[in-house]
Amino acid sequence: MRVSEEGMTIEDVARLAGYERKDFSVCLGCKICGSVCTINDLSVAANPQALLLSLFLQKELKNDDPVLHYCTNCYNCTTACPWHIRIPEIVRAVKGKMGMETPFEKAFKSSVGIWGRVYEPYVFLKALSFLIRGGYLAYVMRWKEYVTFHLPHKVRNMGDAWQKSARQRKAR
Ligand code: SF4
Ligand code: SF4
Repeated sequence: MRVSEEGMTIEDVARLAGYERKDFSVCLGCKICGSVCTINDLSVAANPQALLLSLFLQKELKNDDPVLHYCTNCYNCTTACPWHIRIPEIVRAVKGKMGMETPFEKAFKSSVGIWGRVYEPYVFLKALSFLIRGGYLAYVMRWKEYVTFHLPHKVRNMGDAWQKSARQRKAR
């Protein structure tokens, strides 16, 4: 997708992100953001500064840009940037414009729309087909602690009570 075809400008992105162009115009091009970007730990050559530059120059934005796909919203880039430019908010605005929501992002929004909060079991179920297709269920045991934490209290208490009685039976 080309930014110009969509009529997306740095002003649009700034507005969607809740800022003004001048908040992003101070970029020095120093690439410190890229040097601390979490995604680069995965060796995918993410360059947040290049995304910003493409927007300023009205250049083509590639929807396979790793920053757009994998930004974790960790704000390492913002913390390290001499001007504290908020790259994650730029990423969110661009993705919204390009319709690039991940299944989890869609599920989060849908959950907030229904319950006014992120309801984890709903998010999990909503993203289930994506997880199955991607083979992620192989990691479900690693999520055990997370999944258990989000079970309803009554179910969790039943598990605790069962473990307690099992220990007592063993001790006799
Ligand atoms: S917020 Fe996104 S772009 Fe910034 S360092 Fe983290 S992963 Fe990289
Ligand atoms: S660290 Fe800040 S000033 Fe430097 S390139 Fe990245 S966004 Fe621009």
